[in-house]
Amino acid sequence: MNNLTEAEAANELMRLARQIAHHDKLYHAQDNPEITDQEYDALVRRNRELEEAFPHLIRDDSPSKTVGHEIAASPLGKVTHEQRMMSLDNAFNREEVEEWTQRIRRYLNLDDSEQVAITAEDKIDGLSCSLRYEGGKLVRAATRGDGQVGEDVTPNVRHIADIPQELPVGVPDVFEVRGEVYMSKADFAALNAAQEESGGKLFANPRNAAAGSLRQKDASVTAKRPLKFWAYGWGAASQVPCETQEVMMRMIESWGFPLSPFLTLTQDTDGLIAHYEEIGRQRPDLGYDIDGVVYKVDRLDYQQRLGFVAKAPRWALAHKFPAERAQTILEAIDIQVGRTGKLTPVGRLAPVLVGGVTVTNVTLHNRDEIERLGVRPGDRVVIQRAGDVIPQLVENLTRDEPREAFVFPDACPECESEAVAEEGEVDVRCTGGLICPAQRTQRLEHFVSRKALDIDGFGSKTIAQFFALGWLESPADIFRLKERREDILALEGWQERSVDNLLAAVENKREPDAARLLFGLGIRHVGEVTARDLLKHVHELPALRELAEQARGGDEEAASELTAIDGIGPSVVEALGDFFHEPHNAAVWDDLLSLVKPPRYEVETLDSPVAGKTVVFTGKLETMSRDEAKAQAERLGAKAAGSVSAKTDLLVAGPGAGSKLKKATELGIEVIDEAAWAEIVTSAGP
Ligand SMILES: [Zn+2]
Repeated sequence: MNNLTEAEAANELMRLARQIAHHDKLYHAQDNPEITDQEYDALVRRNRELEEAFPHLIRDDSPSKTVGHEIAASPLGKVTHEQRMMSLDNAFNREEVEEWTQRIRRYLNLDDSEQVAITAEDKIDGLSCSLRYEGGKLVRAATRGDGQVGEDVTPNVRHIADIPQELPVGVPDVFEVRGEVYMSKADFAALNAAQEESGGKLFANPRNAAAGSLRQKDASVTAKRPLKFWAYGWGAASQVPCETQEVMMRMIESWGFPLSPFLTLTQDTDGLIAHYEEIGRQRPDLGYDIDGVVYKVDRLDYQQRLGFVAKAPRWALAHKFPAERAQTILEAIDIQVGRTGKLTPVGRLAPVLVGGVTVTNVTLHNRDEIERLGVRPGDRVVIQRAGDVIPQLVENLTRDEPREAFVFPDACPECESEAVAEEGEVDVRCTGGLICPAQRTQRLEHFVSRKALDIDGFGSKTIAQFFALGWLESPADIFRLKERREDILALEGWQERSVDNLLAAVENKREPDAARLLFGLGIRHVGEVTARDLLKHVHELPALRELAEQARGGDEEAASELTAIDGIGPSVVEALGDFFHEPHNAAVWDDLLSLVKPPRYEVETLDSPVAGKTVVFTGKLETMSRDEAKAQAERLGAKAAGSVSAKTDLLVAGPGAGSKLKKATELGIEVIDEAAWAEIVTSAGP
């Protein structure tokens, strides 16, 4: 830690913030984690260590300030928690538990004779939920979400038998019971068996099954799932009628809620550790997954005084169990090609039982990971599974044995196109985007999509069907479909009119916009805006190819001509060069350009009052999309920017505009509404 420079630390903190946010999203929002909890915890811990060593580098978006994920695309309603749902700090060994208890004693300024009683209970691996009772009736249930705002699952929890709809007379007027919704191992196995039979989605583990079952828009689906609940605490309450955690939990139990069967009260670290070890011994035989033991300071007045740090209370700690491990032989390393062309190595294992589950495959992530572990087929390896999804290969026991190193392929196993890793990137990708079977249908969908060629009538089903029939080998084939009119008509579900509409939509794009065509090819790093930037300067697609090929051949002048364009960096130039260097792509390109003739690309900048100015759009736009507004600005010779700064000339603010409007006002920037913007657009002419 101490030999890190500030710049290195800042860099790593940035990377950690991004990684942790990514994994949070997979775990919480999509119930689809790709790393183990242990690995996740390691990232969080590293982040904490760095922040402790470099407190002035703590980021605004630091993972230590957020819990879980923001709910963005949930079909469920949102609920703002009256009292935030916290997460817990973790400990992984006895020393860390001891440090925690000593910290508490120091914080409370207790002398050695004073005891601090602490509760301990097992931490079930489920989904946190807050249940709000008003006048003794269940009025709202919400998931944790990001800790401040969760999802409304009220109708869903009404189907969970462990959750009382009504509390006994005499309970506080408002009381939020908090706990975990979970699925037992046996129910999980039965559910997956039924899903398999009906061809439904299989769940990776009980936690994901519980989360997926609870977070259903249609509560009748939840009703069919065997969900359970137990309480571990409480949130907002008009009154807390007890003085300790343990007594309050027993009262909640008396109201009809199940609690952890292991909930107990201890007096010191030895007691905690003994209980932890006892739970650990029983863990394999428990009917549900747990991932640790939670400790809480018992006296509520102490909890009050201890308070919170960032997102976690000082008075609670999760003592995690170590992951389960086993040894086996790595029999082979296969390469899989994902839909974006990423080559992922997968280790094939001699089947081995880890934590009660037979493991035969393990992801090796990427080329660097293989190098780091030094694994080759035939090695004896350690596999780790942590009561969750994808098993990990953590150690190579025979790396010193003389055996040839695994050579990561430089060609795609699906299409034999060149596979390359860009500078500074760990992932190796197939460059045969247009011909690679692993990528083709998705690329075709992208090619006809609204922002690319925008050909009506091509749904993903049609593309998949035509592709399977061998009619769509590459985007160019779209322009040969008219020769297949009779064949298409012969397919089920197609009538004269629908076929002719489709073919007319295709014909309509014989002279496509060059920037859209370029964007539609799905070349890495060449997005919509980049495609336009390139063509604004180069004007013709053949000229672009020539420059890119020259640049790749080492022609400095060609390279700098491209990188001199606003918005174009070396990574774009490199990606273009790689694209054309792949003969398959070059052939598809030639084929395509023999069928379509994009006119010379010129951006007509109209003479307008905003020419040369920087415009920012904020708030809700009523008559157009944000994309359209930006295109209008470009057409008027203005630059559309994403954020307000001193360089901003004009802010177009719709209803609901917030911080950008405030900032623009502070900076004295001209602010207009959408109607005034529309007037500028109209007055500038067609
Ligand atoms: Zn390929």
